[in-house]
Amino acid sequence: MKYSLIADVYKKIEATTKRLEMIDYLVELLEHTSIEIIDKVIYLTQGKLHPNWMGLPEIGIAEKMAAKAVSLAIQISTEDIMENIKKTGDLGISTENLLKMNRLREPTTQLTVTKVYDTLDEVSKASGPGSSKRKIEKLATLIMDALPLEARYIIRTVTSQLRLGIGDMTLLDALAIAFTGSKENRGVLERTYNITSDLGNVAKTVAWKGIDGIKEAKVVVGKPVRMMLAQRLSTVEEIIGKLAGKCSAEYKLDGERFQLHKQDKRVNIYSRRLENITSMYPDVVQLAVSSIKAKEAIVEGEGVAIQADTGELKPFQELMQRRRKYRIKEMAEKIPVAVFLFDCLYVDGEDLTTKPYTIRRKKLEEIVEEKTRFLITPSKISRNPSEIRKFFDEAISKGCEGLIIKSTSLNSIYRAGARSWLWVKWKRSYQSKMIEPVDLTVVGAFMGRGKRAGTYGALLTTAYDKSNDVFRTVCKVGSGFTDNNLKNMLKMFNKHITTHKNARVDSILKADIWFKPAIVMEVIGDEITLSPVHSCAFNNIRKESGLAIRFPRFTGRWRTDKSPEDSTSVNEIIEMYRSQLKKTTK
Ligand code: ATP
Repeated sequence: MKYSLIADVYKKIEATTKRLEMIDYLVELLEHTSIEIIDKVIYLTQGKLHPNWMGLPEIGIAEKMAAKAVSLAIQISTEDIMENIKKTGDLGISTENLLKMNRLREPTTQLTVTKVYDTLDEVSKASGPGSSKRKIEKLATLIMDALPLEARYIIRTVTSQLRLGIGDMTLLDALAIAFTGSKENRGVLERTYNITSDLGNVAKTVAWKGIDGIKEAKVVVGKPVRMMLAQRLSTVEEIIGKLAGKCSAEYKLDGERFQLHKQDKRVNIYSRRLENITSMYPDVVQLAVSSIKAKEAIVEGEGVAIQADTGELKPFQELMQRRRKYRIKEMAEKIPVAVFLFDCLYVDGEDLTTKPYTIRRKKLEEIVEEKTRFLITPSKISRNPSEIRKFFDEAISKGCEGLIIKSTSLNSIYRAGARSWLWVKWKRSYQSKMIEPVDLTVVGAFMGRGKRAGTYGALLTTAYDKSNDVFRTVCKVGSGFTDNNLKNMLKMFNKHITTHKNARVDSILKADIWFKPAIVMEVIGDEITLSPVHSCAFNNIRKESGLAIRFPRFTGRWRTDKSPEDSTSVNEIIEMYRSQLKKTTK
């Protein structure tokens, strides 16, 4: 399969502002792809070479290094290329334009997808002395054989700036149409994706075996399961009502979610975003090896920073200092971590994701030998509001954020990848007048004036509408930024700038600058109000009106642990609006 086919489709996707058109182009691409390489086409379209959790080297070389490769291929100095980027704002476009005018030689071959993928894989894996030179040479050879449009996308891919902004759900829609003939089957594909977290593999399976083959997929150790998430409500009575009195309250710890995969003496740790974070937590690996009695297991819990001498729980920000590549041992001593386990997804050949909560919890207790820093999360089975309230106060006094109250009904399965009503969170901040912070994806910016001249005055932020795979605006955030935030913001957003609104963004407001949905920020506001200028839940509560956050402020927390699809959903904003109404009419 020629790489030019991919490049032509990317160009069309880049130009469209309509999501349905984006899907049509993807279907066209998938239908022209041979099954052997369909996984590679999927990864390339996502701007990567492998699923993130594999922890394999990814592409993502610096612009300067890529410019050196282009310089070698077209015999123009790196300085001149960097100068040209200042005009186009994009090394991809600069390379394309320059290649039309200058070439060291004519292409000797037509680039295939396999050739491009394999070369990028070799470039990403090259390491050690002299590896920079080898990377540049390999890339230069690829550029020499590329057509100008192909070069645009190769360069953007290697510098991690593909910016197509295609979401997983959009790819699943396209796969369902291309290989089962109907978008209706997305749900079936999604379930497999949720338990294997590998879109390339989902594509290969459905392309080979069709819809029946995809249904056979199983949870396996070593492939992270997309995590089950909780809904939110603000009173314990509402929660008990929602769970029909069949519930277990657990401490809600304030740390980082860990999914631990144990196979003999090997343990891998996956984050909320399914990155492989094993190397950052050697202490947790050791604890898991010595405390999990099963040969093979997948368990989940929260890793929390603790005070080394007293064992007291510390807030999330402390733990984030453990997220590093260097000085890992030193930080493990300075900021030790305790793990509080709360779920068990798989044990020695048995997939527990389809079993109810009580069975999973019992299994967890059976296979874990608790240690001071490797514990099972305290829980209380109760349907009595005052008893649960007391448990909530106890959790808060121990440094927790509140409770997660979980259904114990017969159908309380582990719903991979879903924000389900089987788990409901109840946090301390719900009790104050202010709404709880939300996590919003930034899709655009408005330029600043006066003191803010030269940087962004406000960011346009969105909630995620999963069923349509679209980001809908809820507010413009202009306050809460420190001088440092303002200084770093341009650089931070620069690589996500696009020439027009992304096809997955729904906005009534016209931003000065548009971004690919990529960065998630935590925002707090005073309340949720109706608004004719925001597209979140438009026409849902009232005709010609959406929902917006009033007086939004940045909390200072960039949610790098979340992907755009993990941001607060449109449905959650609707729920928050409704529960606010209930409170004020009481
Ligand atoms: P979310 O993960 O729901 O998108 P978030 O990262 O902002 O949102 P919260 O909304 O505060 O986190 O709560 C959910 C998170 O709470 C879980 O992802 C998990 O990391 C953490 N957590 C702490 N204790 C528990 C528990 N007992 N059961 C499940 N999750 C827990």
